[in-house]
Amino acid sequence: MSFRLKIIFGVVAIQAVLLVIMIWNGLNVLKTSNEEALLKRTDTTAKLFASTTQAAVLATDLATLESFVNGLLTNPGIVYARVRSSQGVLAEGGEKKFLDRKFMADTSLASAEQDGVFDAYGDILVSGEKYGRVEIGFSTATIQQLITGTRAKSLGLGILNLLLVGLFSLALGYYLTRGLNALQQGAKQIAEGDLGYRIKVQGKDELAQTALAFNDMSAKLKHLDEEHIKKEIEIRRLNHALEQRVVERTTQLQDANKQLEHQALHDALTKLPNRALFYDRLRNTLSSAQRSQELFALVGLDLDSFKEINDTLGHHAGDLVLQHVANACNKILRESDTVARMGGDEFTILLPKVTDMEHAVQVAQRVLAAIKEPLQIDEHLIEIGASLGVAMFPQHGEDELTLIMHGDAAMYEAKRQKLGVLVYQAEMGEGKNEAVALKGELRRALSDGELVLHFQPKIDFNAQKINGVEALVRWEHPRLGLLYPDKFITLAESSGQIKALTLEVLKLAMQQIHVWRNQGVELPVAVNISAVNLQDHGFPESVAEIISEHQVPSRLLELEVTETAIMCEPLRAIENIRKLNTMGVQVSIDDFGTGYSSMAYLQKLLVAKIKIDKSFVMDMDKREKDDVIVRSTIDLAHNLGLKAVAEGVESEEVWDRLKAMGCDSAQGYYMSKPLPSEKFTEWMQSSPWGFALPSDKKVVNE
Ligand code: C2E
Ligand code: CA
Ligand code: CA
Repeated sequence: MSFRLKIIFGVVAIQAVLLVIMIWNGLNVLKTSNEEALLKRTDTTAKLFASTTQAAVLATDLATLESFVNGLLTNPGIVYARVRSSQGVLAEGGEKKFLDRKFMADTSLASAEQDGVFDAYGDILVSGEKYGRVEIGFSTATIQQLITGTRAKSLGLGILNLLLVGLFSLALGYYLTRGLNALQQGAKQIAEGDLGYRIKVQGKDELAQTALAFNDMSAKLKHLDEEHIKKEIEIRRLNHALEQRVVERTTQLQDANKQLEHQALHDALTKLPNRALFYDRLRNTLSSAQRSQELFALVGLDLDSFKEINDTLGHHAGDLVLQHVANACNKILRESDTVARMGGDEFTILLPKVTDMEHAVQVAQRVLAAIKEPLQIDEHLIEIGASLGVAMFPQHGEDELTLIMHGDAAMYEAKRQKLGVLVYQAEMGEGKNEAVALKGELRRALSDGELVLHFQPKIDFNAQKINGVEALVRWEHPRLGLLYPDKFITLAESSGQIKALTLEVLKLAMQQIHVWRNQGVELPVAVNISAVNLQDHGFPESVAEIISEHQVPSRLLELEVTETAIMCEPLRAIENIRKLNTMGVQVSIDDFGTGYSSMAYLQKLLVAKIKIDKSFVMDMDKREKDDVIVRSTIDLAHNLGLKAVAEGVESEEVWDRLKAMGCDSAQGYYMSKPLPSEKFTEWMQSSPWGFALPSDKKVVNE
């Protein structure tokens, strides 16, 4: 039921109840007053008649009395009339049945009415004395008619009243609920989303106030909604931007990872695959060739006079030559071929799916021709010579090592005979060529103590004094003289002898530390370790054994590892460096800047020093780019809480520049070349950076 109907019903119901009560009361009042009026009227009529008849009664004038009675009977409602004296009835008239009945008015007023007649009387008094009386009968039916008439009139009036009240209530209800209706409509509109909907406000009553408040609320809702929508749009925009940034960052990260991966497997200078990637490709090619019984060729490549170019035209020229070789190879080779820089001026080419030996030789010759194309370096136009040795699978070897060895053997033979390109032949076998021979001899060198160490000082910029030594291995070859590490370290690595070599170098370094300690000098000695050592789980234990064997404090031993060695397999490298650190052995990053170390790894590595590669340092006073690299590397090291060591300091200018940059230590020919131990001792005592050995003082082991 609607509110309006409720109000109308309520008002009508109240009115109806009130009306019923009113009518009831009214009727009762009417009834009583009618009766009273009747009584009064009969009484008065009787009394009036009595006084009128007084004279006639005294005179006993019956005729007058007779006419009085008749006159009275003409009144409507009077059914009989009688005049009586103490002697009896003087005159009477009316219906006989009423005249004959017992007069009831004597008993009581209540019983005065009987048989539809109401009896009344009036005493005839003369000077207060009663002479007789007048008796009159009134018809109650007539009176009743009168009363009913009045009642009907009242009822009619009541119903009219009720109708009027009803109509009024309806109008009132409509009027009152008009505002409520509008409010209801407004609420509905808002529920349906029509925020800001306004109600028409009429009047100033409470409903109008409510409507005003409603309009206010509606406007506020609309405002809030608009704000909300604005915010939502803003949030969506921000979300979108965020998403975009996440995508961007992810791509950057992926790119960085790709770059990292690429740089871990490629040579920074030539962008060619490095040794690790080459071996991986070789293994894959080998296993697929074994399955499909296909041929493939391996070509060893070595430049003929790289050292001379480097020495005469400088390091920068050397770099250009190496890049020229890489370009030449890339120009000739197919996508599926691999050319890798194995180190220094050594390259190896892998030619999968060659049709025959002829084919492989042709490719090698085309590569050589491309390398020989003249190269302009500054004002020089130079021609670079190279020697290439071809080994075929399976004809010249069925495993990686044999193939590489035989490719190298052919290459050395080509170099010796100045033939350019040569295919491996059985006569070039072991013993017949330098590299293969050296490999065999290295075993002997290790057992017979042909390896010696040369020492190069590191100078502290602040103290202007030596603060450490780098041990550099040399091979005193009985036939070939003093061999430098570039002639045999790679060989040791590829023939599985590097572990033995490193342990030998470590022992020699320990012995030297011992000697110096006995002379009263404590100098930390840095030993270079190869990637193979760093990946070897057992390496830290081997180091620990050697340290304890020689009873030397572990803080006097430092190890240098290259970035590339670390990035080969960073997790294993980190694990080993951590173990070494726990033992108290410091590790430095060598040749920093030539490989690629991610910042994340640098922080995890727990290394103590960064050694800036000599290629950046040597000419930094002449090359702006190098200067920038060196300065930012020093800053990087310091930001990571590490010491920066510059190697390759060949001049006073570079020394001064590094000092100004806040570099911590320096190493280089300017201070001293690497020297055999006795020479080194002499240098220490004569150089301003060294110091006199307190030979009388013996240091006791800790
Ligand atoms: P490296 O660790 O970078 O060693 C520094 C090399 O730079 C040494 O060459 C040193 O003679 C040379 N050098 C020092 N000062 C200057 C300078 O002012 N100018 C120039 N142009 N060169 C300078 P070295 O002795 O021929 O060693 C070559 C590389 O062989 C070393 O580079 C190191 O990677 C490796 N090596 C040396 N000894 C060992 C060793 O015992 N074990 C292993 N695994 N590798 C070694
Ligand atoms: Ca080094
Ligand atoms: Ca170095």
